[in-house]
Amino acid sequence: QDLFEHPDFYQIDELLTEEHKLIRSSIRDFVKREISPYIEDWAQQAHFPYEIVKKFGDVGAFGPSIPAEYGGGGLDYISYGLIMQEIERGDSGMRSTASVQGSLVMYPIYKFGSEQQRKKYLPKLASGEWLGCFGLTEPDHGSNPGGMVTNFKDMGDHYLLNGAKMWISNSPKANLAVVWAKNEQGRIQGLIVERGMEGFSAPETHNKWSLRASTTGELVFDNVKVPKENLLPGKDGLGTPLMCLDSARYGIAWGAIGAAMDCYESARRYALERNQFGKPIASFQLVQKKLAEMLTEITKAQLLNWRLGTLMNEGKATTAQISLAKRNNVHTALEIAREARQIHGAMGITGEYPIMRHMANLESVITYEGTHDIHLLILGNHITGIPAFV
Ligand code: FAD
Repeated sequence: QDLFEHPDFYQIDELLTEEHKLIRSSIRDFVKREISPYIEDWAQQAHFPYEIVKKFGDVGAFGPSIPAEYGGGGLDYISYGLIMQEIERGDSGMRSTASVQGSLVMYPIYKFGSEQQRKKYLPKLASGEWLGCFGLTEPDHGSNPGGMVTNFKDMGDHYLLNGAKMWISNSPKANLAVVWAKNEQGRIQGLIVERGMEGFSAPETHNKWSLRASTTGELVFDNVKVPKENLLPGKDGLGTPLMCLDSARYGIAWGAIGAAMDCYESARRYALERNQFGKPIASFQLVQKKLAEMLTEITKAQLLNWRLGTLMNEGKATTAQISLAKRNNVHTALEIAREARQIHGAMGITGEYPIMRHMANLESVITYEGTHDIHLLILGNHITGIPAFV
């Protein structure tokens, strides 16, 4: 049986180009071959398979929308979305690795970096020779990153960086970190910090019940001397990291639906195969209700993603539109995972099926890149003009 059948109830494939479909099937094959057979073990063992980084590079999963001259794919945003969808159908942790590298490391270097920085780092990151991470969140500043205390001082021939970041995807294995810190005027700027710089460490965070195949850690800066050419010169202020988050959140809106599709397909198959009271559980109305609602929500989210992708391609998508999609689709995926878990009965709690892993993963996805409630407040601000964050 095709484990990667995808629901396309509204024939959204007709809205895709041949190139989109080719990209999707190549990533789908890659996930089937390189991720799905192993992911359950990796997650159970809390193992980050570092070798996947190079493979992601080979298949074009890093920075699909970055121009080809810097090693990126030069693709449109629908292609980017489809790539994220197919990877997250495999696992949200694997998609997180790719999202961080493409949207949170390559994107800021491309968008705000100097030509020298682009040429130095982007090809290595695109090919998977190097892994990167994005340091915004701090122990005391999560939803409110503007309150950050990590800072740097101009020492004449270098910058001196101090502070700490927490919950940083990829950090324990990363070759470089794009770090957001305040300058002496209190303005937030991005700095490229490389592994091996004195005073810089990235200890791993253990015992997560979620995104177990993705590695997460801290970034600690103790008087780190950062060369001046490592400052991202293009833009300063909180809006700079937030622009990166817009790009990543867009990918998450697609990715989460990949996880939802996997749960739906597993539940549909299980319901047809599992017999109780002398017939398949799929014949009971309550089970059909669950499946019908899953398909309805997946279809709505697919349409949302496609339209948002076209707006992204035209450069017209707003932060509030991206918030709506990230918030809706991750919540939808989590609800679908929970319902699918019930359809699988006791089997749903085992690693024989992907459900519980997706469900636990999505608990991180609904929190990172802006929590469910913070995205609601972004929409509230858009509707009323009144920011309710503070
Ligand atoms: P808090 O901000 O403390 O929020 C706690 C609760 O309070 C939430 O429910 C929140 O919605 C609510 N809340 C907060 N403020 C308000 C308000 N004004 N009004 C109403 N409710 C409010 N960060 C990075 O920088 N880089 C990464 O690579 C990265 N990877 C991550 C990977 C994982 C596995 C996880 C779990 C997190 C990661 N994060 C990363 C951090 C993530 O972005 C933060 O966890 C997130 O922004 C929320 O911050 P917090 O956990 O400090 O929660």
